[in-house]
Amino acid sequence: MYKLQRLELVENLEKKGITDIALLKALKEVQREKFIPSGVRQHSYKDIALPIGYGQTISQPYTIGIMTQALDVKEGNKVLEIGTGSGYQAALLEKMGAKVYSIERHFDIYNDALNRFDKLGLRVHCKHGDGTIGWEEYAPFDKIIVTAGSPRVPDQLKKQLALSGKMVIPVGDKFSQTLQVLTKIKDDEFEIEDIPEFAFVPLIGREGWKDQ
Ligand code: SAM
Repeated sequence: MYKLQRLELVENLEKKGITDIALLKALKEVQREKFIPSGVRQHSYKDIALPIGYGQTISQPYTIGIMTQALDVKEGNKVLEIGTGSGYQAALLEKMGAKVYSIERHFDIYNDALNRFDKLGLRVHCKHGDGTIGWEEYAPFDKIIVTAGSPRVPDQLKKQLALSGKMVIPVGDKFSQTLQVLTKIKDDEFEIEDIPEFAFVPLIGREGWKDQ
């Protein structure tokens, strides 16, 4: 039903600099409208963040594109996502051939995503909990993507990243963040690239912001 709008959105993202072939293919395949509440579904293919309830959002497609492209996902990569939200980002990663592990702190959002993955036949390993402490049991991860804004890079996530692995995380204050792209060079040494000016909902947890 939304196929034409979806292709138009992907074409626009391509013009704005999203060139990763596997990502573009996944963006063309995954139906964003399936991850969006009925009240705002008609806006599924606008390049904007949309509310998913409980004060949370599904991120803007361009932002998702930039983050996923920076992550440099390869087929078979083990990817940890912090902040499952609607599940759209995880669905894209799965379509790109990654083994996806995703953590969500809000129980109702976690539950909705779980049901959605089940219904859409997507293989995503989900956990309800505080993603700032990672998922030790399945570490190390080739890639880690944090989809909420954090005051700093959580130590546990640094530890759980594989050597040569990449992490993409928005770091800053509660209103504006820089996307940091970290590449693990040695055990405790990272190369850091900054992509400025993004705004995410806060990462709340032991190594994130404190819950009000
Ligand atoms: N990736 C999501 C998507 O595709 O819809 C977008 C997620 S939304 C921008 C950020 C999510 O991070 C929210 O659902 C929020 O509840 C969650 N979150 C915030 N702090 C968290 C934490 N410490 N651990 C896990 N999830 C967290």
